[in-house]
Amino acid sequence: MTTQPVKAYGTTAIEEPLHEITIQRRAVQPHDVAFEILYCGICHSDLHQIKGDFGPFPPPIVPGHEIVGKVTAVGSHVKNFKVGDLAAVGCIVDSCDHCEYCNDGLEQFCDEGVTYSFNSVDKISGGHTFGGFSKTYVCNERYVLKMPAFENLAAAAPLLCAGITVYSPLKHWNAGPGKKVGILGIGGLGHLAIKIAKAMGAEVTVFTTSPAKVEDAKRLGADNAVLSTDAEAMAKYNRQLHFIIDTVSANHDVNVYLNLLRHDGSVVLVGLPNQPLEIGAFNVIMGRRSFAGSNIGGIAETQEMLDFCFKHNITADSEIINIQEVNTAFERLEKGDVKYRFVIDMASLEA
Ligand code: NAP
Ligand code: ZN
Repeated sequence: MTTQPVKAYGTTAIEEPLHEITIQRRAVQPHDVAFEILYCGICHSDLHQIKGDFGPFPPPIVPGHEIVGKVTAVGSHVKNFKVGDLAAVGCIVDSCDHCEYCNDGLEQFCDEGVTYSFNSVDKISGGHTFGGFSKTYVCNERYVLKMPAFENLAAAAPLLCAGITVYSPLKHWNAGPGKKVGILGIGGLGHLAIKIAKAMGAEVTVFTTSPAKVEDAKRLGADNAVLSTDAEAMAKYNRQLHFIIDTVSANHDVNVYLNLLRHDGSVVLVGLPNQPLEIGAFNVIMGRRSFAGSNIGGIAETQEMLDFCFKHNITADSEIINIQEVNTAFERLEKGDVKYRFVIDMASLEA
């Protein structure tokens, strides 16, 4: 298959800083959309990947899966995009497109395995996929989102992963008027969960380990904010919440949060600690509580989320950086020193 060289930022080994490399992207196929990348968010999953938290990776790895750009070329069979349109890609760039899950808009659970936007086997080129820390992307139009014309397009990029990862469970577990929703961890995902849950009409309580974020949570729209190390403040929420989204990226005690649930409530894990979590039997049998999980969201639901956020004027609180600052950004993300998402201005990478 013919390929084209593309400038990117990547790494070939764990602990090796990201640096400029040249990757090969497949030439535009009949159903493909090619676009110039304008902005790409930095998700904690990018950090997990380059640290090897999810296991070894085939070098080189080019992270980035919150990708927004402008269409530069379309294949002969493309129906929904034309040159000059805004376009976006999140985590999913391919799936079998015929299993029960794909047919139900749940591509993230595809029977044959989903192709992620980076570090996945590319079924078409035979190589592997490279993410959005690069100048261009090529993707089958079935997996390309229509990007609404957000006033701050850079700040909308994090919706492509962080946004859909919290929107999907909020919707599935019926966040809305009369529902008391807890949000655990105020990072990229957590701060968008506050904004989206409020826009859905829920009462939102956040739990944070960072004293400085207690006040900030209210600015973001939370009704209540609790420092999770304050046992007295935590006790007030015992048996109060309908469900809790857990966005914590590291090991932590989920039993504390199961006890904040009302009967039939659920703690829904979206964070990806790299060690198994322990659950005490009594914390789930009492109150018939559930411990559940959720993985991003399907393509149609991602489009729905983008349109919802556009309508409600929701974007991420973002710190825009140049690609040359990406290693410092990862160091700061690891320390929790970002309010609340880094977004790379890809114009900083010369073609
Ligand atoms: P992030 O911006 O780093 O936020 C994570 C937050 O978790 C931190 O801001 C911090 O919030 C809290 N935290 C971190 N370490 C902690 C610890 N040791 N104990 C308690 N709290 C801690 O990360 P993100 O980009 O939002 O991603 C969050 C997690 O979701 C990551 O593991 C990521 O890989 C995962 N993820 C999953 C999916 C999915 O589909 N399931 C999709 C995207 C991301 P406070 O300072 O408020 O305590
Ligand atoms: Zn992500």
